[in-house]
Amino acid sequence: MSVTELQEYMRCRRQWDYSSANRKSLVQRGAPRKELWMGSAMHAALGAQIMGEDPMEALERYIQLIRKETAEEYLRRVGAPMSTEEWLAFDESAVLCHRVIDNYFKHFGDTPYNGKKGKHPKLTPLASEITFMIPMPVDLSTSDYDVVYLVGTIDALFTDPNGGIVIGDHKTFSQKADIRDLQLDHQFTGYAACMQVLIDQPVDHFLYNGVNKKVPGIPKVLKGEGPTKGRLSREWIDTTANTYRRAILDNGEDPTDPYYSGHLARLLERDTNNNVFFIRHYLDVYPSAVRQWWDNTLALLEEMAHDPVITFNRTWTGCWDCGVRDLCDAQLKGQDVEWLKNEDYVIGTYGTKQALESTVSPETVGSISDLIEFAQKQHEKLPEVTG
Ligand code: SF4
Repeated sequence: MSVTELQEYMRCRRQWDYSSANRKSLVQRGAPRKELWMGSAMHAALGAQIMGEDPMEALERYIQLIRKETAEEYLRRVGAPMSTEEWLAFDESAVLCHRVIDNYFKHFGDTPYNGKKGKHPKLTPLASEITFMIPMPVDLSTSDYDVVYLVGTIDALFTDPNGGIVIGDHKTFSQKADIRDLQLDHQFTGYAACMQVLIDQPVDHFLYNGVNKKVPGIPKVLKGEGPTKGRLSREWIDTTANTYRRAILDNGEDPTDPYYSGHLARLLERDTNNNVFFIRHYLDVYPSAVRQWWDNTLALLEEMAHDPVITFNRTWTGCWDCGVRDLCDAQLKGQDVEWLKNEDYVIGTYGTKQALESTVSPETVGSISDLIEFAQKQHEKLPEVTG
């Protein structure tokens, strides 16, 4: 069971039952959703940089891998190759990934965790992309399962200037998260709890490293016959002071012109204090929250391993977060769910081969130095970029 699967189970058992790899494992036919692979590609780039590799090369390597897997998976799910339009959409997403990651390193520089821009102390990166597998003490005497593992991937491991342990999570987002929602987040607390078991020492902080899946917008040149004709719009769009300044120069104008100076100052202030594209939160990890997370997780796993009653939870927000809503709709309306399943879904596979091959568990690591050594060895095994 993955840490995110626990969340799916708590959110709605029907959704969990349809989509979990431990249950019906249904995935929709067609190309994989771009928001899923784009987030993973950006993770690969940020993770590689922590291990001392060129992030842009790592990104390209990951995109090549996904391209190959997407073609194979599409053929398996649909029975025909992907169309030119679908490949064009894929390529557009790949270009966006490159631009976002390039902007990230332009913003944070070559040492992105030095604390100069991220509102956290200087952090020393130790390891990245740590996929773990922890056997859980669940009573399975009356269960169909033989063993229950808790699995997940922790994006980054750091130390702070006092030697405290910090774990990090790279989150690609389209909408900004509120720090109050993140502070006791289930996933973050869970990753801290799991890391504590792996390295046998407490985790002190959590770094939320938010990356917007967007690039700065270019301001429009104003039309019409008014006095501002031909000048740039000062509309409050998602852009940066640098991008805006470059657009002024490209428009043959002077950034120090009073028409632009106030707007540029406001953009610079937003870039510094409330950046639209890159957001970091440095959160405390509460030992009490970690203890309660374990208790809660053990109780949930106990239920999940004993064929729980499959209830559903149709929320007033409309279940926008559900990947199997059409199946649920059909079921609620008394329509032919089996037909829909056969028509639109296939059985998915669990995790990526690469992630499953490089897994740490309390049997393979017992301290932070073991973990660092393991992460370095895994990193050395990665294939070279080709083509
Ligand atoms: S649509 Fe809502 S109620 Fe139905 S399975 Fe999805 S999350 Fe559950």
